[in-house]
Amino acid sequence: MAAPFKIIVCGEGGQGAKSIAELIAAAAWTDGRHATCLPQFGVEKRGGLTSALTQVSDSPIPYPVFTTADLAVILSQRAVERVRAHVSPRTTVVVNSHLVKDVASLGAGPVFAIDGRAVAAEQLHDSRVFNIVMLGAMLRFLPQLSAGMYVTALDQRFDKHLAAHPDLRDTYRRALELGQELVAPYVAPAAPLPATDPARSRTVENARAVITRWPGRCKSCGLCLARCPVKCIAWDPQELGQTGEPAIKIDPAKCLGCTMCEQICPDFAVKVERK
Ligand code: SF4
Ligand code: SF4
Repeated sequence: MAAPFKIIVCGEGGQGAKSIAELIAAAAWTDGRHATCLPQFGVEKRGGLTSALTQVSDSPIPYPVFTTADLAVILSQRAVERVRAHVSPRTTVVVNSHLVKDVASLGAGPVFAIDGRAVAAEQLHDSRVFNIVMLGAMLRFLPQLSAGMYVTALDQRFDKHLAAHPDLRDTYRRALELGQELVAPYVAPAAPLPATDPARSRTVENARAVITRWPGRCKSCGLCLARCPVKCIAWDPQELGQTGEPAIKIDPAKCLGCTMCEQICPDFAVKVERK
């Protein structure tokens, strides 16, 4: 089993660090690989740093937390300190050069400075998609997925927004391409991951929400059971998760559609779409 590829993304709240990390994991899962994503927030209500730990692998990932990242993406100067504990000389670093001026003290491996904001503003006339440009730059370093998986992940994550603003779809796709073009002259494409069996899903619904779960992704950690406000999640001895322990099941008769289980799950094992 190859070791999971480990990524930390860190930036100011609102820069889209969590979205980048989640899109990588979602693309990997969509492509039939294994992935985890663990967001970490500060105690501040506003103006805090946001970071997320993501792993992708061809095999089940035992634990969502890790120490040393293969790739660190730093979106602001303040984020340098937050990622320090996850960086070693073997860590490749991608920085948002618009805000990050000095990472020498990290002692990291190769550093790539990308001004995603300038590219987004000047070539796409929308600086809000700077994080998608940064994601595009990251793709050169990540284990390769099947073509189009990141576009699919973008479509799924922003489906409601894209339904209201269909022109954004082309902007997102072009942002991904521009990011890749920025680093392509310097970095050979990463090796692909071998494919694994696509995860099976189970969907139930009630008047409030459509609830989909992927038993093969569930690591039986119990986080969602503890968080569910109406305790409608239970273990399902008929359906084993990726550790061989029972995965979860959800009682649609009681589910409020609050999405807390989706938000807390580090393994993308449940999705709740409110009606
Ligand atoms: S959506 Fe809310 S109520 Fe429904 S299972 Fe998840 S945490 Fe429980
Ligand atoms: S679905 Fe629940 S028990 Fe399974 S991995 Fe996610 S949080 Fe843990």
